[in-house]
Amino acid sequence: MSEKYNIPRGTFDILPENSYKWQYVFRIFRELAAAYNYREIITPIFENSNLFERAVGDSTDIVEKEMYKFQDKKGRELALRPEGTAPVVRSYINNNLQNRENSSKLYYLGPMFRYDKPQKGRFRQFYQYGVENFGSKDPFIDAEVIALGYNFLKKLGLQNFVLEINSIGCSECSKDYDAALVEYFTKYTGDLCNDCKNRLKTKPKRILDCKIKRCKEIAENAPSQLDYLDESCRTDFEQVQDYLVKMNIPFLVNPKIVRGLDYYTKTAFEYLNNNLGAQNALGGGGRYDNLVEQMGGNPTPGIGFAGGFERLILSMETEGLDFGGSVKPFIYFITLGEKAELYAISLLEDLRNSGLSLEFDADKKSLKAQMKAADRSKAEFALILGDDELENNEITLKNMTTGKQQKIALDTTKEYLLNLKKKSS
Ligand code: AMP
Repeated sequence: MSEKYNIPRGTFDILPENSYKWQYVFRIFRELAAAYNYREIITPIFENSNLFERAVGDSTDIVEKEMYKFQDKKGRELALRPEGTAPVVRSYINNNLQNRENSSKLYYLGPMFRYDKPQKGRFRQFYQYGVENFGSKDPFIDAEVIALGYNFLKKLGLQNFVLEINSIGCSECSKDYDAALVEYFTKYTGDLCNDCKNRLKTKPKRILDCKIKRCKEIAENAPSQLDYLDESCRTDFEQVQDYLVKMNIPFLVNPKIVRGLDYYTKTAFEYLNNNLGAQNALGGGGRYDNLVEQMGGNPTPGIGFAGGFERLILSMETEGLDFGGSVKPFIYFITLGEKAELYAISLLEDLRNSGLSLEFDADKKSLKAQMKAADRSKAEFALILGDDELENNEITLKNMTTGKQQKIALDTTKEYLLNLKKKSS
């Protein structure tokens, strides 16, 4: 007996019965990103692992616990990308994008990899969409990026999600805040989980993001970053909110949003669907004004977000939303007789190459079998060509919904069908 191969834990196949949903959300994202004048960037799926250690932070969960690291045959340390911002920043610097036209507003789509504990809405390979905007500190850009992410979810028809925003301050004001957090959490050291005990020494802010119940309870009364913002961070944050109000984007201010990656500064935000259970973040992002410089580029502010398609599609399914209909043939081509079949083969090619979608099964010879297959294919029309019809320069067109049949002149088939398609779409 041949061996059975299983799919790796935390991954899944996107089957034909579902792939149209993915194509639909990809398309809507691309269209909306283009409406905001963002252009796509495609970077490799693996990078040198030090890129993520440096950019995301080597004490973050993503790098410390979740990264798929491996060596190639020459002993190079590589990693499957766990997120999209660091590769885009690398590419921005490597390719000197700051000096190229239309290269400061970028978006990406593609798989990311994290050795996470698989559960509902959390996988080891997952698909993200994201945008990055380089070169401006203007709070309008923060609002615009947030609006793009919000409007994407709205455009898909989602109702049950909220946008939460925060400012985590610049490197200067977060020093005072970190000190206040250390003072506060030190009182509870004994109660904190082991990870948070370490975080207290390295990145106290990250305790606010811990999912452990007791740590969450303690964090409830921790000091708020908003009380520690300096003048410039405070005004910027107020302006972001003013712009969002002007753009009609509803939001809540949540001072507990910290984001799990090291590179964030100032504005941080998340889109949450609280019906999803524990994995409720549909997406999130923030400013990273120091990252480009930290990665060896010229000082360049930046802001972006990323969201996961799995949770998005799950939310859409839960809300019973439409994915634009599954892909099915427009026409099922039925033939009777050898001459008709030969003629059909060249007509079929011609029709397909003019953009129509057709199915034809040369194996099935009887009318009954072909009619059955046409029904199952969910085609909108059937074209029926027999040897007799061929002689009379005719072809039968059957509307599969109404059952109505009509004859059309064979040599006008293409023109007729193209018109029909235009009317039906
Ligand atoms: P993050 O960069 O961790 O904030 O991730 C951004 C978004 O990607 C999250 O809000 C999720 O929607 C999605 N995401 C992150 N990790 C996973 C995962 N392991 N499985 C599925 N989706 C994920």
